[in-house]
Amino acid sequence: MTRRWTLLCLIFGLTGCVSETPVALGAESSWVDEGNVEDGAFDGPGRPKNFIEVDAAHTSNAFRQYVNGALRVLATDTTEIGLLTWESIRAGRVRIDELADLTCSDFERVRNDFKDTALGLTASDYVHLHDSNSAALAKLSDAIYGYQWSNRIYITRGQSAEQLASTLVHEVNHVLNHSEQHYYDDLPTSGFIEEYRAFTAERRFRAARWEGTNMINYVCDNYDWDRDAIDAEVLSSPLSPQMLPSAANWSVRLVEDDPVDDERACLRSAAN
Ligand SMILES: [Zn+2]
Repeated sequence: MTRRWTLLCLIFGLTGCVSETPVALGAESSWVDEGNVEDGAFDGPGRPKNFIEVDAAHTSNAFRQYVNGALRVLATDTTEIGLLTWESIRAGRVRIDELADLTCSDFERVRNDFKDTALGLTASDYVHLHDSNSAALAKLSDAIYGYQWSNRIYITRGQSAEQLASTLVHEVNHVLNHSEQHYYDDLPTSGFIEEYRAFTAERRFRAARWEGTNMINYVCDNYDWDRDAIDAEVLSSPLSPQMLPSAANWSVRLVEDDPVDDERACLRSAAN
């Protein structure tokens, strides 16, 4: 394993998971909504919210419209996995936010994933993520497209509603399967199992898009994993259970039992 930062959809240029032409994050004004303007009404005043943010204190109508554009795709989809993903999000089983709203502990995880690279993020960068023209956020946004830990999903701006819907299908699958708990056990095989399942979820959502794609090769190529280094038994039967985010499958994924981060300690370190 050579690219730890590719884990859990922390990906450079992984087209199955993220936008092929991402727009740089940062200033709100730099973001162009590709969704429908009326999506705001999809989760407007007086209506229940369609999704919960990780950090509700930092929000904007533009961000909510952006996510709602993708949720509208899911809510009106004809596939079972699309509809179940929508129902999972609406039920608050996952939380969705942008990279600027990483929790301190998640920021530290991302920073650790990049520790052997030239990104050069420091612990104190965390407190500047919401600064206008934050250099740390710009670096982060250039480097990654998304991140997931526990039930927290962080996404980049700039994906089309269709692409973001597919990304959410992928990331909700990671949450459902508690991917971070197993991902690092025995790389690359352990990571391969998690990604193969999440990309298969995307394929169930948009079969035509994946027609003719060899999923094993696709996952290995995108994560720089040597196919020969993956356990042969896993390669012969790569798909593990827990595909659909159904009520039955959620009933055995107890998010409330996930380890709780010590955010206060993290913030103290960041402030020093
Ligand atoms: Zn993934």
